Order: sequence, then structure tokens, then C-alpha cells
Amino acid sequence: MSDLSRPFGPKIIAVANQKGGVGKTTTTINLAAALAEAGRRVLVVDLDPQGNASTGLGIEVEDRKYTTYDILLGDVDIKDVVLQTVTPNLLIVPATVDLSSADLELMSSEKRSFLLHDALRQIEMDGFNLDYVLIDCPPSLNLLTVNAMIAAHSVLVPLQSEFFALEGLSQLMLTIREVRQTGNKDLRIEGILLTMYDKRNNLSLQVEQDARDNLGDMVFSTRIPRNVRVSEAPSFAMPVLTYDTMSKGAQAYRALAKELIQKHRVKVA
Ligand code: ADP
Ligand code: MG
Repeated sequence: MSDLSRPFGPKIIAVANQKGGVGKTTTTINLAAALAEAGRRVLVVDLDPQGNASTGLGIEVEDRKYTTYDILLGDVDIKDVVLQTVTPNLLIVPATVDLSSADLELMSSEKRSFLLHDALRQIEMDGFNLDYVLIDCPPSLNLLTVNAMIAAHSVLVPLQSEFFALEGLSQLMLTIREVRQTGNKDLRIEGILLTMYDKRNNLSLQVEQDARDNLGDMVFSTRIPRNVRVSEAPSFAMPVLTYDTMSKGAQAYRALAKELIQKHRVKVA
């Protein structure tokens, strides 16, 4: 039987939005780095066949001997897949393009939606002492994303501050509702995060207004500004917190980590 209650162990957060290019991977990498910098032990699970989170955290393709694919569809133990990144306290389960066939292959597996959940339960028993697991989801509501939502306590939704930003959110909410009904009744929304925010741009202001009017305090107070240092960092294979530690982007992700930690502290009390 799967135990989804998990009273101890890490907070598991799926970073999801079926739209591509909204800042899922950027948020996974930099929020993870900010939590690690704050002294938390963090694991990133790269669940996107593009493997951008792996690359952005400095893991070369030739060093990805085992990947997320192997823990979902092979019989490799998750502890043998985890790699240390360039950032202290920050570990990763990397991905490669192999993962692109996983969605179809999973269809024939009886436990297809619970594979990541089971692997992450295993890692708790292996004594990794993690505080947070962040799962970087692919730009789709496929079985990979469902695996992430079944495994997670909550979903963090990056919302790009642009036209049509809120379009598609209802589809995402529908999937979350389905996951609650089929295997993870306690799945919460961690928060909606405004990304690539530009306060000089009316459109950003409008998206923020709409999001706060419609979604209320589900929207994080922290906004991630559009910042060129954030987009440059992955090509140097490091989080922006390392690449340009005082940049606006780095500061924003630190503020987000603080908001998240604070929120969890309040919940526990
Ligand atoms: P997703 O994972 O949702 O597809 P990414 O995180 O890969 O989205 O971001 C899409 C693009 O936007 C990338 O080129 C990334 O560097 C850029 N980007 C993301 N966040 C920011 C930001 N705050 N400032 C500037 N560029 C950003
Ligand atoms: Mg991505």
C-alpha cells in the first residue's frame, strides 16, 4: 500500500504549468538554490525530457549515467541516481531525452501514476535527510506530471506575466482535482508565482491584478522580475544565486525561499 500521509520527511513540491516557457525550470533551479543557501537540504527531480534543470545545475549529459527514466521504468534504486550539484546541499536526479518515451511506456504499467511517489518514499528511508524536493515538470499534463502530483504535497505554479497568462490555469486546476480524487487527496496548491515580471509594463500590472483578484492569497507576495542575469545563468551551468549573487533575480528567489519557509513554519505551528 502506498502511504501518502508522510508525516515526516521532506516537503515535496511539483513545479507545474502545462505552458512552456513560463519559468518552471528557472524557478526549480533557483528556488532550490535559495533554499539550499538558507541551509536546507534540497533534491531537484528533473522530470522534463529536455533536461534543462540538470544542465542548469551543472550536470553534463555524459555524467547522467542513470536518470529519472531509470527510477520510473528501470529497476535502478533512486539512491544510485542522485548526484551532488555544484551548489552545497543541493542534489539532483537528472534527466535526459530518454524520458520523452516514458509517458507512453508508463501506460502499460499498473502502478503508472505512483512510480515517482514510491521512489521518493524510498529515498526518505535511505537517510538522505532532505528538507525539500522540487520536481521540475514537463510542459504538459501527461503521466509524468501526474506522477509528480501524486508524489507531491503541493503544486507551485509559475505564471508568466504576459497576455493570456491565466488561460490554461483552469485545465491545470482540473488535473489537480482529478489527482485529488484518484490518489492524493491532500494535494495542495503551494502558490501561484508571477514570473518575468516587469513593473514598467502595463501588461505585467494587469496580469498581477487579475491573478490577485481571481486567486487571492494563493498568489505569492514575491514576484520574480524579468532579469537578464537569470536567463544568462544556465549557460554558465549554475543558479543565478551563484552566477550573480546580488542580481535582482537572485534576490527575488531568496525572497521566495524565505516566504515559502515562513509559510511552512506557520502551517506547522
Ligand atoms: P519552462 O521551464 O516553464 O519552459 P524556463 O524556466 O525554461 O520555462 O524559462 C523560459 C525562458 O525564459 C528561458 O529562456 C529562461 O532563461 C527565461 N526566463 C525565465 N525566467 C526569467 C526571468 N526572471 N528573467 C529573464 N528571463 C527568464
Ligand atoms: Mg522547463
